[in-house]
Amino acid sequence: MTDHAPFASYKSCNLCPRRCGADRTVSRGACGMGDAVFAARAALHMWEEPCISGERGSGAVFFVGCSLGCVFCQNRSISGGSGGKPLGVRELSDVFLRLQDESHAENINLVTASHFTPTVACALADAKSRGLRVPAVWNSGGYELPETLRMLDGLVDVYLPDLKYVSSELSEKYSHAPDYFEVACRALDEMFSQAGEPVFDGRGMMTRGMIVRHLVLPTHADDSRRVIRYIRDRFGDGVYISIMNQYTPTGSPPYPELCRPVTEEEYDSVVDFAADIGVTRGFIQEGGTVAESFIPAFDCEGI
Ligand code: SF4
Repeated sequence: MTDHAPFASYKSCNLCPRRCGADRTVSRGACGMGDAVFAARAALHMWEEPCISGERGSGAVFFVGCSLGCVFCQNRSISGGSGGKPLGVRELSDVFLRLQDESHAENINLVTASHFTPTVACALADAKSRGLRVPAVWNSGGYELPETLRMLDGLVDVYLPDLKYVSSELSEKYSHAPDYFEVACRALDEMFSQAGEPVFDGRGMMTRGMIVRHLVLPTHADDSRRVIRYIRDRFGDGVYISIMNQYTPTGSPPYPELCRPVTEEEYDSVVDFAADIGVTRGFIQEGGTVAESFIPAFDCEGI
C-alpha cells in the first residue's frame, strides 16, 4: 500500500526536458514511469568519491526509470522502467531515515530521481522534519530543468550531476538528446546557485557544494576535454570535477566504438588536460574500476 499524493505535475508531465506531457496517473512517460515512485535498492555504496562514500558508505537509493536513456547505461536493468518496488512519500522518507539511523550512512544519495522530483522533495522535507541530519546528495545525469530543480532548493545539500557531452552529435547518437549540453549547462547553473562553494566537515565529508562528474567514453576523449574545459571556465574552483574511467560495455551497445573499455592513454589524456588548464579540485579513478561487479544488485535491498 503506498500513500503517494496526486502531485499535479504528474497529470500532464513536463518535469524534464523531454516535456512529453504524459498523464502519468494513467500511463507511463518517456522516462518509463507513472506517478508512483519505484526504487530498486537502498543500501550503503562505497564506490562514490571519497568525500561522498566516506568510511561508512553513502546511503544510495536507486530509482527506477530515467528521462535520459543512454545507450551505454550501466543501470540498464532498471533505467528502462522495470523492477523495483513502489514507495509513497512516507515510505520513502522512512527509507532515508533507516539509511541514516540503522545503516549509519554518511548521506542520502538519490540516484536518478529527476523524474520523481515532486515526490522525492516531499519525502526529503518529511524526513528532515523527523530528524534526517545527514546531507542529501542529488546524483543525476544532468539532463534536468531549472524549474524542476528549484523544488529541491533547501532540501538537497550536495549536487552530483554528470556533464556527459558537449557535442550535440554525440548526445543525439548516444542519449537521443541533441540539446543535452545546453540543457545541462542551465541545470548545472541552477544547482550551483543552490549549493554554492564546497563545504566539508571535520572528517573531510562534503556537506554542501557540487561535484560535476564526467565519464570518459571510448574514442571520445576529444569531447571529454571540451567538457572539462567548459566546467573549468564556467565554475573555476567553485566545483570539484570527477573524471571517471569506469565505462563498462554491458549488453550489446549498438555502436562498435562503445564495445570496449576506455584505454589508459585515453583516460590519461583527459586527466593531463585537466591538470594543464589548472584544475586542482577534482577526483580521478585508479585502474581496475571496469567490471560488471561494480554495478550493484537491484534486488530491492533496503526498500
Ligand atoms: S519526467 Fe517522464 S513523464 Fe515527465 S516529461 Fe520527462 S519523460 Fe515525460
